Amino acid sequence: MKKLLPTSTAGSLPKPSWLAQPETLWSPWKLQDQELADGKQDALRLSLQEQQQAGIDIVSDGEQTRQHFVTTFIEHLDGVDFQKRETVRIRDRYDASVPTVVGAVSRQKPVFVEDARFLRQQTRQPIKWALPGPMTMIDTLYDAHYKSREKLAWEFATILNQEAKELEVAGVDIIQFDEPAFNVFFDEVNDWGIATLERAIEGLKCETAVHICYGYGIKANTEWKKTLGAEWRQYEEIFPKLQKSSIDIISLECQNSHVPMELLELIRGKKVMVGAIDVASNIIETPEQVADTLRKALQFVDAENLCPCTNCGMAPLPRRVARAKLNALSAGAEIVRRELSIS
Ligand SMILES: [Zn+2]
Repeated sequence: MKKLLPTSTAGSLPKPSWLAQPETLWSPWKLQDQELADGKQDALRLSLQEQQQAGIDIVSDGEQTRQHFVTTFIEHLDGVDFQKRETVRIRDRYDASVPTVVGAVSRQKPVFVEDARFLRQQTRQPIKWALPGPMTMIDTLYDAHYKSREKLAWEFATILNQEAKELEVAGVDIIQFDEPAFNVFFDEVNDWGIATLERAIEGLKCETAVHICYGYGIKANTEWKKTLGAEWRQYEEIFPKLQKSSIDIISLECQNSHVPMELLELIRGKKVMVGAIDVASNIIETPEQVADTLRKALQFVDAENLCPCTNCGMAPLPRRVARAKLNALSAGAEIVRRELSIS
C-alpha cells in the first residue's frame, strides 16, 4: 500500500556555507570550475541526506546546483542577454534590474538533466524536480524581441517541455513548475497562463505539479503581504481553471497563511501539497501545529490526495532551522497518519 500523507518540500533548501553565502538569495558561489562542480554534487548529497534523516518521503536536490529558481534556468538559454539589463517591476511588487530578451529564445542543451540523473543515482525514493513556470520566467525579463508576454510565455513553455521530457527520462517522478506569478496576474493566468503550463507538461507520463505561492520570506514579499488584507482570496480567481487543467498536484502555503482553507474545495480532486511549514519565520513549528494545519486541510482535501509540505523554498533560512522544520513536518504528518489509521 502506498504511504498515506507522503511528505515533501516545496523547493530549495539551504546550501552549505562552503558552497555559497548562507541565508542569501542569489548568493554567489564560493568555488570555481571543477571544484564548483564537485561541490554542487557534494551539497546535493548532503541535502538529500538531511531530507532522508528528517523522514521526508518525496525528496529533491534541495536546488543545490542552482543559484536561483528562475535565473539559473534562463542563463542556460539562447536569446537572453544577461549583460544588457533593464529595470522592471517584478510581480507588480518590486523593481529589479533584469536581463533582456534580444532574440529568439531556445535551449541548446539540457539544463538540469545531469543533476537529476545524479540525484536519481543516490536514492530509490520518489524524486521531485522543480522548474520555473513560463509566466514566472517572463516576469523576470525585459522583452525587446517578442514584445508580447504571451508569445514569450509560449516559447518558454516549449523549451520547458523539452527539459521536462528529458528529466522524466532521467527518472524524475514529479516535475514541478514554480509559478508565484500566478498570484498576481489573474487575467493572464486564465487567458493563457494555465494554457502555457499545459504546453510545458504536454506528453509527460510522470506526475506534474504547480507551486503557486506568496514568495520567499524576503522583505519585498512580506511588505506586499501586508497590503493583501486579512483574507487572501487570490487563489479563488484561478482555482476553477486549475482544477480543470491536467496538472496533477497543486502546491500552496497554508501555515501562517491568510489563505482561507475552504478555497481548497475549489481544487477538490487534485493532489495538494499543503504547506504546513512557514518559511518566512525562524520559529520552528511544533509537530502539533503541523498536524493542526493538516487536519484543517483534510476538510477539503481527500486524505489520499494530501502531501504535507513546506510553504515555499527554505534557501534563505539557517540550516539548523530548516532541518528542525523538516523534522517537525515529518512528526506532524505522522500524528495525522496515526489518527487516520485509527478512524
Ligand atoms: Zn514558493
